Amino acid sequence: MTRPLLLPLLLLLLLPLPTYAWNGAGHRLVAALAWAQLEAPAREQAVALLRRHPDQARWLRRQQEQDPDYGLFLEASTWPDDIRRDARFHDPDEPPTPLLPGFPHMQRQTHWHFQDEPGAGGRGEIDTRVERLARELAEGDAQSRAYALPWLLHLVADLHQPLHTAGRGDRGGNGYTVENPYNPRKPFMSLHAYWDELPGPPWLRGRHLEAPLARLAALPAPEQGDPARWLAEGRALVAGDGVYPATPGSLLPLVTPEFHARARQISDQRLAAAGVRLGRWLNRLLVPRAAASR
Ligand SMILES: [Zn+2]
Repeated sequence: MTRPLLLPLLLLLLLPLPTYAWNGAGHRLVAALAWAQLEAPAREQAVALLRRHPDQARWLRRQQEQDPDYGLFLEASTWPDDIRRDARFHDPDEPPTPLLPGFPHMQRQTHWHFQDEPGAGGRGEIDTRVERLARELAEGDAQSRAYALPWLLHLVADLHQPLHTAGRGDRGGNGYTVENPYNPRKPFMSLHAYWDELPGPPWLRGRHLEAPLARLAALPAPEQGDPARWLAEGRALVAGDGVYPATPGSLLPLVTPEFHARARQISDQRLAAAGVRLGRWLNRLLVPRAAASR
């Protein structure tokens, strides 16, 4: 086949499907780092809240840790992605699904996971949602706190994925296809998907999490800052030269060895920062209720 035929065909076949998050491995790694930061009272509260969540039995069934409380915490962190494919929930353009016990509503809220451009052109609301969920977790009733916690575990991680906070007019890299020789099964993929997969294979659980976790835990502790700062850091990364590959490939921008090494380093730093910051924040948000009353 000659190239003039091949190119449109390839582009059609490889049109990237939108993806929205660090993969499951990324979320569990962030949650694991956060768990390591938690002081006993925050850990107890977190586990008590997750055990009230209507989907806690699903998380316990699939967790692979020796300590089921820890496993519960890790599995809760992917819940906002799990419900994307869950028929109990609905998107705004679908007929509403029946309200089930323990849930405040049955919306998937896919727009909570990102904010793709600064200013008026941006879609998504992670920039404001994270603070609102934190307030709900600190001040809400038991049901809304149990609902808010998995979301917060998830969104603090998403906020550290640079392409969840900016793009270059391409929906956070979802509309930007790269050549990636590091994934032989998907040599052409969206830049967003490339970043989502940097933490490792999505099935990583149990003992398979140990090596990447040790690598991330060895990185220098981040300054705490606040969600606005975490977002600004992501946007600065996207504006710099580490997130978008600049070398042309045969058809599309190419992930070179140098680019890949740098991207993995940035990804590690962002995952580590997310986990430590999340854990420290939860220590403040999950103080025992009696002590929290003003
Ligand atoms: Zn997400």
